[in-house]
Amino acid sequence: MASYSVEERATPNSLEYRLFFKNDKGQYISPFHDIPIYPVAGKNVFNMVVEVPRWTNAKMEIATKDPLNPIKQDVKKGKLRYVANVFPHKGYIWNYGAIPQTWEHPGHKDENTGYYGDNDPIDVCEIGSKVCSRGEVIKVKVLGTLALIDEGETDWKVIAINIEDPEAASYNNIDDVRKMKPGYLEATVDWFRRYKVPDGKPENQFAFNGEFKDKDFAINIIKSTHEHWRALVFKKTDGGEINCANTTVSDSSFCISQECAKATVEAVPPFGTANKIPPEVDKWFYHQKN
Ligand SMILES: [Mg+2]
Repeated sequence: MASYSVEERATPNSLEYRLFFKNDKGQYISPFHDIPIYPVAGKNVFNMVVEVPRWTNAKMEIATKDPLNPIKQDVKKGKLRYVANVFPHKGYIWNYGAIPQTWEHPGHKDENTGYYGDNDPIDVCEIGSKVCSRGEVIKVKVLGTLALIDEGETDWKVIAINIEDPEAASYNNIDDVRKMKPGYLEATVDWFRRYKVPDGKPENQFAFNGEFKDKDFAINIIKSTHEHWRALVFKKTDGGEINCANTTVSDSSFCISQECAKATVEAVPPFGTANKIPPEVDKWFYHQKN
C-alpha cells in the first residue's frame, strides 16, 4: 500500500510556509495530481489529503496554482487567513481536505446547482474520531454530500469517514451519520452557512435546500470531478492558472523530472522556527441568525 510523507519548508504560520509531498519511493509529488483518487482499484474507497486538522483555524489548502501544489495557508489582503470560531463551533469541526485527482471545473455549470465549479479539487469533511495531521493522506469511505453555493460557485462538500476509524464499519450512508452522530449534520450546514459572516460576507446558500444527498449521489459527483481532472491534465480542457506539473502521471505532458521537482522545493527556504498564531484566532464570533 502506498504511503506518503511530507516535507515542511520555511517558517510555520508565515506567508512563505509550504508543505510538500513525497511518495514511498522518496520522490517529490503533487498531492493534487500524483496521489491517485483510489487507493485500491474497484472499491468505493477514496484517498483524502488532510489540509486542516479538526479544531484548528488556519485555512490551509493545496496551492493549485503553484508548481507541485504544496499545502499553504490562504492569504487575504496580504494576511494569513484563519476561519473564525463561529459560536458554538471551534475552528473546523471535521478533518477537512480534498480528494486528489478531482477538479470542480469553473467552465462547467453543475446541473444540480446551476452554478459553475469553484476551480478546486473536491472538498471532504471527515467525521472520524481521530484528529488527523496536516498533510496526512487517509483512505475514506464516502457517505454523502452537501451542495454549498459559496459566493456564486458550486462547492460540493463530501461527508466521509476514515476507513481506519474503529466505528467505520457501522457507517455506510448519510443516514448512519444522522442516527449515530446526532446534530453533526445540522452543525455542518450551520458551519458552512455562517463561516464567512465574520468576514462581512452574507450567509452562504445551498442547493437542495441544504439537504444532504446520499452515498451513491456523492460518488457520482466525485467521479464527474475526476473526469474533469483527467481532461485538465491530459490537455483536453484549458485549466487557466491551474498548475498541472506532476512527476508520476504517465502520458501527462505536464510530467516533470525529479531534478526539476527538487529545485522547486529547494527554492523555498528551509524549515524554520514557527511563528506564534495570533491570539485573536481563539476569540468566539457570535451573530444573530436571520
Ligand atoms: Mg471547494
